[in-house]
Amino acid sequence: MLLTFEQAKQKLLQAASMTIPLANERISLIDALDRITAESIISPINVPSFDNSAMDGYAVREFDIEKSKILPLAGAIFAGDDISHLNWPTGTCLRIMTGAPVPNEADAVVMQEQTEITNAGIHFLSDIKAGSNIRRIGEDVKKNTVVFPKGKRLTIPTLSTLATLGLAQLTVFKKLKVALFSTGNELTPIGQPLSYSGAIYDSNRFTLKLLLTQLNCEIIDLGIIPDDPRQIKQALMAAAKQANLVLTSGGVSVGDADYTKTALEELGQINFWKIAMKPGKPFAFGQIGEALFCGLPGNPVSTLVTFYQLVQPLILALSGNVESSLSNLSFKVNTATDLKKSPGRLDFQRGVLQTNNKGELEVTTTGQQGSHITQSFNHANCFIVLDQELGNVSKGEQVTVELFNALLK
Ligand code: AMP
Ligand code: MG
Repeated sequence: MLLTFEQAKQKLLQAASMTIPLANERISLIDALDRITAESIISPINVPSFDNSAMDGYAVREFDIEKSKILPLAGAIFAGDDISHLNWPTGTCLRIMTGAPVPNEADAVVMQEQTEITNAGIHFLSDIKAGSNIRRIGEDVKKNTVVFPKGKRLTIPTLSTLATLGLAQLTVFKKLKVALFSTGNELTPIGQPLSYSGAIYDSNRFTLKLLLTQLNCEIIDLGIIPDDPRQIKQALMAAAKQANLVLTSGGVSVGDADYTKTALEELGQINFWKIAMKPGKPFAFGQIGEALFCGLPGNPVSTLVTFYQLVQPLILALSGNVESSLSNLSFKVNTATDLKKSPGRLDFQRGVLQTNNKGELEVTTTGQQGSHITQSFNHANCFIVLDQELGNVSKGEQVTVELFNALLK
C-alpha cells in the first residue's frame, strides 16, 4: 500500500518538528521581507503615540458647543506641532489638521465640511459627537504588547507595522541551507547546445533554484551528477555535510539507472518512498546525518508539484515558520470541462479558475496532464484536487480547487 498524500505530508512535518531550530541573526528591517521572526516582537511605543486628529477641521470642547453653535477661532494646530504650551481659551475653537496632536481638553474634532466660516467665527452645522475624529493613543498598537509572535513570516504589511514602531532591526531565524543536485546522464546545463539526440536540458535544477530563492533559502548548487552510484553517494555526502535539507531530482523511480534511493539507504535512513499522488509518485524522503533529504521525481511537472505540495510546507516548517502564511486556499466549484482520472492516487491536475458569463466561478482543465507537459502549468492558477478513489469527472460536477499561492506567481 502506498502512503496517502496526507500521510506523507504529516511525516514530513513531523520530521521537521524534530529537527534542531535554526540559529538566530539580527538584520535590518529592510532586509527582512519573507524572513521568519525568531522571537516575539514587543511594541516599544503606542501607535499612535498621542491622540491626533483624523480630519482637517476644528477641535472643540463639548460644553462650548452646547452653549453656542458659533465659536471664534483661537489658533491652529498642524501635524508636527508641539502643543505642550498651548493656550486655548474656553468658548473658542481651534483649527486642526490631520495627524496634528489633539489637546487633552478637546472633546471632538469636527470635520471642515460640517462647518462654515462666518464673521463671528466658525459655525458648526450639525450636532457634535464626543470623541469623534480623534485617533486615540495606542488604538492601533499598544505599548509593551506582542505585535507578532515568534515564527511569523514577515510580509510587506507586517514590516510596515514594524516600521510604524520605529524598529530598524529585528531578530530572525538564519536562512535554511538547501543543497541540491540533478541526476541523469541525459542532462545538459541550460545555455549549452544539446550535443546528441538523447540529451535534454536540466530544467529542474533551474526551477528548484527559483523556488528556493522565493522561499528565502540559502542555495548550495552541486550541479548535475551522472547516473553513477558512486558519484551520487559522494554528492549526497557532500550535500548533507553542508545543508539542513538536501534536494535531488530524478533517479528515485524504479528504472535501472535510479540509484538515488539505494544511495540514501546506504548513507542514511529512508522515512518513506512513493506516495499515492499524481503526479509525483516516486518521491523519497529520509535523512542523511543531520540533514533531511527529499528525492524529487525527474519529470518536470512532478518536480514542481511535489515541491509545491510537500517540500514547500517542509521548508517553511524547517525555517521556523509556525503558521504558514503561504497556506493554501481551497474551495469547491463546478468544472466546465470533463476531467480524466483513474482511481488509486490523489491527483493535482492543473486548472484555470475563472468566472463564467453568469458571474460564477468555474474551473477548466489546462489540457494534457502528463508529467512531462510543462505547458500544463503555464496558464494555470490552481490545482484541481481529485480524491484518491475518484474516477473520471464530468463537466458540471463539483470539484475541489486549490489556488496557487505566491510561490507560483
Ligand atoms: P527519472 O526520475 O530520473 O527517471 O526521470 C524521469 C524523467 O524526467 C525522464 O524523462 C528524465 O529525462 C526527466 N528528467 C530527469 N531529470 C531532469 C531534469 N533535471 N530536468 C528535466 N527533466 C529531467
Ligand atoms: Mg534519471
